[in-house]
Amino acid sequence: MSVSFSIAQKQRLVELNAEASVVEREFEDVKTREKSFKELEQKLITENKEALFALRDGARRPILCEIESKLVKWLTEEEGFTQVVTPVMLPAKMLEKMTIGEDHPLKKQVFWVDKNKCLRPMLAPNLYDMMRSLQKVWGNPVRIFEVGPCFRKESQGAEHLNEFTMLNFVELGGVNDGEQMDRLRQLAVKAMEAIGFDGYELVAEESVVYGETLDIVAGDLEIASGAYGPHFLDDKWGIFDTWVGIGFGLERIAMMKENYHNIKRVGRSLAYLNGARLNI
Ligand code: ATP
Ligand code: MG
Repeated sequence: MSVSFSIAQKQRLVELNAEASVVEREFEDVKTREKSFKELEQKLITENKEALFALRDGARRPILCEIESKLVKWLTEEEGFTQVVTPVMLPAKMLEKMTIGEDHPLKKQVFWVDKNKCLRPMLAPNLYDMMRSLQKVWGNPVRIFEVGPCFRKESQGAEHLNEFTMLNFVELGGVNDGEQMDRLRQLAVKAMEAIGFDGYELVAEESVVYGETLDIVAGDLEIASGAYGPHFLDDKWGIFDTWVGIGFGLERIAMMKENYHNIKRVGRSLAYLNGARLNI
């Protein structure tokens, strides 16, 4: 009869970033298992420590921050986008203006600070507002982006965080009507080039409510989502020209780039730093 690792052992191995195939190993008897566990645990502890030393002595910045820097550099230095910085606390009215009402799936995911204020679940409302203000001053095109934390109540799992980093860019009045999808594809490809990631596909989808969208997908995981206007929400925000925009989940990109199976390794955390387990 073969034995597998105990539940506590499995938990410990997962915590230390063991591969799934290792966690599911089978043994002839308990004695062999215990010996193997001790060796494995020691090896993984060493690997995690080495990763932390490598961070201190090498890059000195987590991959999440490196990805952000590469995208920001590309957007500002090569594509003419300007960075904006808007509040993390979002008035309820701004959510309503996105038509995130009672029956919207995002509604249940919102963290409320008080009756009239929530933590932003997305950057789109602030970017809508900001691009209208800037269009009045700059005229067309308006090319802006923001990067920062967004918050959603999620039922956890390996691909969702309650707080994650979104980078969202929008280009208003930059293309002729009919050319939005081409422009989205072009920007999506260049963004992936900028971060040096090629394990992705572009997936176009048609939605009755949101129109045509373009997702960037790695494996089965959506790492970014693009949309364009004219869009049914636009006139609420005083937007009347064509626009294209893409929102990137930076932890999802970091996770796929590093081949990790759990997004927690790359998110804001006191248990992990840059993929390595702390408290070891
Ligand atoms: P999913 O269906 O996977 O929950 P979504 O459709 O809710 O994703 P969007 O609203 O399109 O995601 O958000 C844009 C991007 O933000 C996603 O492509 C993803 O990379 C990222 N993202 C969304 N929710 C989370 C989360 N809870 N944790 C980490 N990243 C997220
Ligand atoms: Mg979601």
